[in-house]
Amino acid sequence: MEGGNHTSNYLVVNRVEVLTENCNCCGGGFVGSHGGEKALVAAVSGAGQPYFFCASCGDNIMGRIQSEEARKHYVWDWVVPLKQTKAPVQPG
Ligand SMILES: [Zn+2]
Repeated sequence: MEGGNHTSNYLVVNRVEVLTENCNCCGGGFVGSHGGEKALVAAVSGAGQPYFFCASCGDNIMGRIQSEEARKHYVWDWVVPLKQTKAPVQPG
């Protein structure tokens, strides 16, 4: 059993990434207040796709990182919900 058809896309404005999955740490969704929510992005070189963490996990992760070198791989970003039309209007 999976989550069904309820798929939400989120846009990470600063990096122009479309986020389609939940937090890579706790699996929680990125709850969208209307103004968006901060998210931690782990840019692992060579992996191709960055990892996203919700704000609370991001705080946790950043709090545990002890080396500046490791810290460079993480950057705070901002997740904003994409506005989706409820019923796509199709001509014809
Ligand atoms: Zn999380």
